[in-house]
Amino acid sequence: MTELADKSATAIIPSPRRHVQAMKEYHPPLGNRDVLRLDFNENTVACSPKVREVLGRISAGSLTRYPERAPVEAIVAAHLSLAPEQVALTNGVDEAIHVLFETFLEEGDELLLPVPTYTMYEVYASATDARVVTVLAGDDLRFPFKRLLAAISPRTKIIAIANPNSPSGSAATRSQLLEIAVRAPHAVLLVDEAYFHFHGETVIDQVGVIPNLIVARTFSKAYGLAGLRLGLLAGPVELMRWIRRVLSPYSVNSLALACLPPALEDTAYLDWYVGEVLEARAEFEAALDEACVRRWPSRANFVLVEIGAQHKEFTRLMSGAGVLVRDRSTDPGCHGRVRITIGTREQMRQAVAALNETLSVLKMQAHQHAP
Ligand code: PMP
Repeated sequence: MTELADKSATAIIPSPRRHVQAMKEYHPPLGNRDVLRLDFNENTVACSPKVREVLGRISAGSLTRYPERAPVEAIVAAHLSLAPEQVALTNGVDEAIHVLFETFLEEGDELLLPVPTYTMYEVYASATDARVVTVLAGDDLRFPFKRLLAAISPRTKIIAIANPNSPSGSAATRSQLLEIAVRAPHAVLLVDEAYFHFHGETVIDQVGVIPNLIVARTFSKAYGLAGLRLGLLAGPVELMRWIRRVLSPYSVNSLALACLPPALEDTAYLDWYVGEVLEARAEFEAALDEACVRRWPSRANFVLVEIGAQHKEFTRLMSGAGVLVRDRSTDPGCHGRVRITIGTREQMRQAVAALNETLSVLKMQAHQHAP
């Protein structure tokens, strides 16, 4: 061992904050996904060709400039019938969640979460000094409205609700969301509408009307721009001004900014993709029913299914058959459950073939291992 290596082995190295050491971890895709990607609820085809065109025209000179987000924020705000000051673009909704939590959560505060839900709420909250209070859904995985209301305390600072929720696919109603906002006026109600386009219901029209409501939207799902990292927060000016202070000024890069206007304009593309997914979901659900696989009703571009004790083997065999799916067994109340993204009808026919093949292998294995 060299003297330098020897010294570094015994040296005292800086340690991160206590909360960071205890942070929950998210497991993003690790590569090798050149098969059918039904694991991360992305668009499974492509973004609008109009976006592709704009990307192709980006000049080298334009890359020398820092990103100018204000004009694009104004376009997005107009698209949502909001004022530019009510909208902040973010590097995906993940950054939006991170910044929102950094802006509002301090020691003694509580983040209230119905679970199971999107993992990143707990990941980012665990890095703050706030406490996470969870309300577990019942076996039907429906939105636990009454129990969530009962869990609101004077310390509740943020209530984060993915609507539709992941991995369940269930949705809260508009009146439930509005009642929660009214019953917790001292807290920010974050309604994360990442899967809005597949659901069609929104509370974004209440932004600025309800003083504690903030809505998040992403361009990673229906728009097919997950790789560009684009999301937004929409809320009342009085809250947005603090969020803007925390937000990194250049977190949305100029390529992403250039692609937003054509993505918003091409409503025909969006309608086509959403329509395709909804038809594919209905067909896939029918195939699950035929195969006697328990499923939860979904308002999004994925379906949660019950596989049981063989969930790991199921995921492995599906991957071997060229179809990636996501084991959600470690989510609260989700043991043995796997989430499957919905793509096009053609892709889902491939998924059904892989599913039926996998289920028959699992049946054989279970038979062999039976006492
Ligand atoms: N919210 C929910 C409910 C999600 O499922 C996801 C994506 N997995 C996100 C936010 C993150 O979206 P983005 O790609 O915009 O960071």
